[in-house]
This record gives sequence, structure tokens and C-alpha cells, in this order.
Amino acid sequence: MSHHDQPGERLPERRYDVVIAGGGTAGVVAALAAARQGARIAVIEVKGYLGGLAVEGGTGLHSFYNLWKAFPGVEKRQVVRGIPQEIIDRLLLVGGTTGHVEMIEGYDYDSVCTAIDTEIYKRVAFEMLEEAGVDICVNTMLTGALVTGSAVEGVTTASHTGAELFRAKAFVDCTGYGDLCAYAGAEFTEPNDYPVANSIGIGGVSVEGYYEFLKAHDAIAELARGPRSGKPDQIVRLRGELDKLPPGFRDEARAIGMATTTTTVHDDYLMFIKLNYKMPVSPTNRDAAAKAEAELRRRQARAIELFRRYVPGCERAFIARSSPSLCIRRGRLIACDYDITLDDVLEGRHFPDDIMVYGFHDSAPRLQIKEGRTYGIPYRALRVSGLDNLLAAGMLITSDHDAHMSTRNTVACMGQGQAAGTAAALCAARDCSTRDLPYDTLRQALEAGGVYFES
Ligand SMILES: Cc1cc2nc3c(=O)[nH]c(=O)nc-3n(C[C@H](O)[C@H](O)[C@H](O)COP(=O)(O)OP(=O)(O)OC[C@H]3O[C@@H](n4cnc5c(N)ncnc54)[C@H](O)[C@@H]3O)c2cc1C
Repeated sequence: MSHHDQPGERLPERRYDVVIAGGGTAGVVAALAAARQGARIAVIEVKGYLGGLAVEGGTGLHSFYNLWKAFPGVEKRQVVRGIPQEIIDRLLLVGGTTGHVEMIEGYDYDSVCTAIDTEIYKRVAFEMLEEAGVDICVNTMLTGALVTGSAVEGVTTASHTGAELFRAKAFVDCTGYGDLCAYAGAEFTEPNDYPVANSIGIGGVSVEGYYEFLKAHDAIAELARGPRSGKPDQIVRLRGELDKLPPGFRDEARAIGMATTTTTVHDDYLMFIKLNYKMPVSPTNRDAAAKAEAELRRRQARAIELFRRYVPGCERAFIARSSPSLCIRRGRLIACDYDITLDDVLEGRHFPDDIMVYGFHDSAPRLQIKEGRTYGIPYRALRVSGLDNLLAAGMLITSDHDAHMSTRNTVACMGQGQAAGTAAALCAARDCSTRDLPYDTLRQALEAGGVYFES
């Protein structure tokens, strides 16, 4: 490859206590948590809105609860509270979520369904960050890091304003891709162990029609009822057993990597239908990602055809929304001071430096956390190895694929965000490294922020 040398540039500078890179699932919560510690915060987000994959890829927020329904006699516990729950409370006020409704079928996978209206979520996220006094730098891409020794001094960005430098005392990488960590020289790998996706919201459909279609083939694997379009006790979640569906539907769904799971908070709308595609290389490869984007658009069109042809009431189905860019389950895996193992997850282990507890596994019922228990995520698992003022939160931690199938879910990422944002702000206030922050201080602040612990 040929190269072009960029002459030295003078960049305008902004100064903060904490910079949160990525205003997605974890980043929104991290920014709120940091701001509530009284810190001056900027959140840098490449898209024009906040919320990340929570509003782009998944069907519901997994999970605020332990898996109590799968284990008779086990107590029902809301195990993630704090700021993630505050977001749900705000959404409830404006009809933006079902709240936590109990699963009727498929409760050995998750005991509750928390479905959201993605567009209301984006608006509520803006409102909450504005109220907290966060500088919301959307349409701004983080492009590099300025590092001295083992300290990140600042990050460079690109926007229509031009290039800028954001200086801060502490940083949290919530980019999912791990861009900040990579630019700062952190150790990382790129496992490429998942398919990428571009999930679509489908309009012009009948939710009841989809239900009847699955029922007619005795194929209902998941079902939840809750509020929808202002009416109680409506279908809000469905999953079909693909094997039982007509061969024409089944084989084409398999060919395009289409999942049959969907949730909704509106009549006539399915949010989302996931289309998957396994890239030959990591999604950080721009040229390969471009091919995946194009292929997924073709798969979306084929998915719409399937609904039109096979599902009664969906003859006029259309794509009502799609993701502006690939939905990834993992980009870079960042080396942190502790790597959560599958045993930690399944055995329900807790640590002396827990920052949250969590009770959901995306491979359930094949892999379940023992007896409906929770495991703890230790503070060490968020501390980026080799750097003194950089934390990571979200899908970019946890190397073991099957352990990651738990820690990468939205509500786990949100909880990590609260811890990382709180810790970063406390470090900035004390002028200390992430490793010198006393755990008791962090724990006290998290408890004051409503975080639930089991040890
Ligand atoms: C198709 C799919 C379906 C899923 N289904 C579910 C589900 O049903 N339930 C569930 O609980 N979980 C689900 N997950 C998992 C879950 O959604 C994600 O793991 C989680 O939301 C990741 O959160 P995050 O904060 O790490 O990343 P994100 O939410 O992706 O946030 C990262 C943010 O950083 C921004 N960003 C990235 N790079 C830069 C940069 N250089 N500069 C500025 N901004 C940047 C991005 O635009 C984004 O907003 C699904 C994931 C996928 C891909």
C-alpha cells in the first residue's frame, strides 16, 4: 500500500474530566453515571443519535431479572437496577416500553421480556443526558488517541466542524469496536466469532397474523403479552421454531440468516427481525464490511418477501427501519485486568470487587446460570491492561465466546456502563489511576446510584 504523510496539524482543544467514547448501550449509562458524580463529561458518538445497538439490533433488553421461572422455587429478583432501570422508568412515562412483562412461553430462555420503542429510546436518551449536563457530541467520530507513557491525554475526533482534540483525566471506551483502546495502544485481538447483522423493523404487518402462522404449525417457542399501542395484554414477543415451519419459509429463512424472534410495542409493527451474515474477516475490515452491508440489504428484501408470501396479514409488509450500519456482536476484544470465564458465569461466582450482578445467558436453556443465580462482574474486568486512566464497558470485554454470550447483552452492558462511568469520574476527582481507586469508594457510589449487589 502507498502512503501519504500528513503535515503536523494544530487542533482546537476541549477539556473535560471524563470522556466517554461511544454513546451506545453502555455509553449512555456511563455518561449519566459520570455526570452524576459532578464531573464535566463529553460523550463522543459517531451517529446522530444515542442508544447504539440497544436501538438497532436486538429484540428486547436482556435481562433485568434472574431466570427464576426456569427454576421452580427460586425467588424472583430484579438484579439490574440503578440507571438502567431509570431509563425504563422514563420510557414507561411516554409509552416507550412494555416494562418487564413475564414470558408465558420460552421462560427457560428469559423470564421477562423488556421491549422498547427504539425511536422513543433515542429521544429519552438525549433528554436524560441533557438534563445531566453532558456535552453530547453526536456526528463525531473518534479517530485517534494521544498517549503519554501509560496515560491517555486526549482523543482526536472528526466531525463537520473539523478535527478536534478532547482532553480529559479519565476515559471510558464504550465504542463496542474498542476503537479508543486500539488507538491508545491497548492489547487486543479480533476473534470474528459471530455473524454480523442488520436488523429491520417491519411495518404493514399483523402481529396476530404472525402469531396465528406460528400457532398453525405448533411452532410457538416464545410468547409474552403486555402493553401494546396503549392496550394491555397484547402479544409483545414471539419466537417460532424454525424446524416446524413450512419448508419454503424454513429453508429461505436459514439461507438469509433470519431469526424468527420479534418484539413490538405497536400494532402493525415487528421490531426487530434479525438478518445475519458471517463475514470472512473481522468487521473492523472496512472493505469486507462494505460487502456485508450490501449483502444484508439483499437479505432484508428477501425477508420481506417471506413475510408477504407466507404470513397471513403481512401481505403488505415493508421495511420501516433498518440500522444505519452493521450490527456487530463483537469487534475487538480488549485485554483487561481480569477476563470473566464461562465457569464464573455458569457457577454464579461473585468477586470481592463486584460492580454489578447479572443473571441472563443468551444460550439458555443450553447454558444456564446455575439455579437461577447471578454472577458478579468485577471492577478489574473493566480496567484496560497497561493503561492507567482507561476503562472499557460493553461488548468489548470477555474472551470466552460462551461467557461473552452473557456479558455482551444489553442490560449487562448498561450495568457495566454505570460502573465504568462512576469509576472514571471518581478517578478524575481524586486524580488517581483506575487501579488506585479504593473499591469501597466505588461500591458506596454505586450503591448510592441504586446498583443491586448480592455479595
Ligand atoms: C443483531 C444483534 C442482535 C442482538 N440482540 C440482542 C437482544 O435481543 N437482547 C440483548 O440484550 N442483546 C442483544 N444483542 C447484544 C447487544 O445489543 C450488544 O452486545 C450491546 O448492545 C452492545 O452494547 P455496547 O455499548 O458495547 O455497544 P453499542 O451499543 O454498539 O455502542 C457503541 C457505540 O459506539 C459508537 N462508536 C463506535 N465507534 C465509534 C467511534 N470511533 N467514534 C464514535 N462513536 C463510535 C457506535 O456508533 C455506538 O453507538 C444483539 C446484538 C446484535 C448485533
